[in-house]
Amino acid sequence: MRLSAFYLPTLKEDPAEAEVVSHKLMLRAGMIRKLTSGIYIYLPMGLRVLSKVADIVRQEMNRAGAQELLMPSVQPADLWRESGRWDDYGKELLRFTDRHDRDYCLGPTHEEVITDLVRGEVRSYRQLPVNLYQIQNKFRDEIRPRFGLMRGREFLMKDGYSFDKDEEGANTSYQGMYDAYVRIFSRLGLRFRPVEADSGSIGGSFSHEFMVLAETGEDTIAVCSSCDYAANLEKAVVAYPEVGDIPACPECETVNTPGAHTVDEVATFLKVEPKAILKTLLFDVDGEPVAALVRGDRELNDVKLKNALDAQNVTLADPEQVKAWTGAPVGFAGPVGLKVKKVIADVELRQNNSWIAGANAADAHIRNLDLNRDASVDVYADLRNITESDPCPKCGQSLELTKGIEVGHVFKLGLKYSKAMNATFLDENGKEQFMIMGCYGIGVSRVIAAAIEQNFDENGIYFPPPIAPFEVALLLLSPKDEAAREKAYELSDLIESTGADCIVDDRDERPGVKFKDADLVGYPLQLVLGGKGLAKGVIEAKDRRTGEKTELSLDDFVAAFTAWRDQIRSGWETR
Ligand code: ATP
Ligand code: MG
Repeated sequence: MRLSAFYLPTLKEDPAEAEVVSHKLMLRAGMIRKLTSGIYIYLPMGLRVLSKVADIVRQEMNRAGAQELLMPSVQPADLWRESGRWDDYGKELLRFTDRHDRDYCLGPTHEEVITDLVRGEVRSYRQLPVNLYQIQNKFRDEIRPRFGLMRGREFLMKDGYSFDKDEEGANTSYQGMYDAYVRIFSRLGLRFRPVEADSGSIGGSFSHEFMVLAETGEDTIAVCSSCDYAANLEKAVVAYPEVGDIPACPECETVNTPGAHTVDEVATFLKVEPKAILKTLLFDVDGEPVAALVRGDRELNDVKLKNALDAQNVTLADPEQVKAWTGAPVGFAGPVGLKVKKVIADVELRQNNSWIAGANAADAHIRNLDLNRDASVDVYADLRNITESDPCPKCGQSLELTKGIEVGHVFKLGLKYSKAMNATFLDENGKEQFMIMGCYGIGVSRVIAAAIEQNFDENGIYFPPPIAPFEVALLLLSPKDEAAREKAYELSDLIESTGADCIVDDRDERPGVKFKDADLVGYPLQLVLGGKGLAKGVIEAKDRRTGEKTELSLDDFVAAFTAWRDQIRSGWETR
């Protein structure tokens, strides 16, 4: 390919609209342009990357036995009414009506459509399992579209769905997709971890998120320093030692704490550490008042709370509810004499007593509170976020909290959609059964942003070779020199004959511009053809990631090039 005939509008300055590196670099490198909030045009260079990512995903899905189909983006509301999500999905679902006043939405995901398809075709256990996927644009009216392709409103997703006749089959399908994902993200050249994620009512380890490790990630994950344990915050279980002997707690007493609302204010006022305080958080749980207790220095995890209560909707109480349930303004709630339906406490609170907690009266707290003696706790559960000082729940060694970008998700759905939409089959005994489903997503466009977040320097991107827009760039320093030009095109053909794609920068531009653009766009292998080298019979070669330079002989070019390329490719794999 010749760059002189390629549409590559690069930008010298950082665009003001972009906050994160990947977004800035994709705009500067002429890969994407914004059409409107969260909606992007892929320019030719960006589309090449997108297609390469999609191809790798497709190859591995096919290899794992899944089959590709293509479903429409426009979906009838009736299917969503059947599943119950027309009401539940909220504002991320973009809804509209046609000229006949019929309701539709733009698909944010395709469980309804695929379940409708399969229930109409599959009658017998003999037709199962079925595993279908597509690579298709999704639309989600995200509340805060941001970071370019990272969180768009329209974005490219690979979504797959499996249908099985029994648990064993469903688990095999799940594992098959999990394994395919490990291969996909390895082939894409990413540093990633599959992490256990919350699987809600299904339970067990049947939800994994695939996280690309990058500081700009929106998710926090707990990763063990010595074993393979990795989990996101809502799933990472805090492990505690056995409860030892706890000294007796003196009588409790009320103390005045004028104006001290927050844990820190109370701790400062009473000259104690925040961990001596009991934090009482009030929630509206499916319409009922519930108090959740955690140690003052801890963070409550909403998903853990929701699961522990087996609840649908958990929302923090508003000041009026707080007033009604505690008789006090916000900041003075405590478990003693509280008018709530249920009190749930973090298991850690069993490890100690003599707490300080709100007295359910303005400007007052209670000291020497013994939860067993002075209050009544209905349930103890793991409610708080894990920290770096907690041990790994699997092996007991130390944990690290890191940031990740979710690029994929495998999830066992169970009977959620098959029950709601009546997707059944006849089993071996002629009995009607619901199909057991799984769903498997990859954010194909988000992968590009994640790859860049992991691989950039002050000059631009360095793409992993498998997804670079071109693996090789050949910079022709004197495009007006006819012989050099011919040589460049000839070398480019030779390079392509070895199975690497190559772009020749034959534009009428200064060498400096070419070097800058090549580093910005991030071709991992760069060759520079200049007059001096040509005379000496060599071409200069640079590894974009390490900056290492070498010379390749023009006499035996194919052999020299192939050896150099293979060395760079394997450098990426063992990085
Ligand atoms: P998130 O928590 O980031 O909103 P999600 O749980 O809504 O993700 P899924 O419904 O599991 O995501 O979608 C499958 C994959 O699609 C995700 O793993 C992610 O890589 C990608 N994805 C989801 N939302 C977006 C978006 N707004 N822009 C780009 N990619 C997205
Ligand atoms: Mg989402």
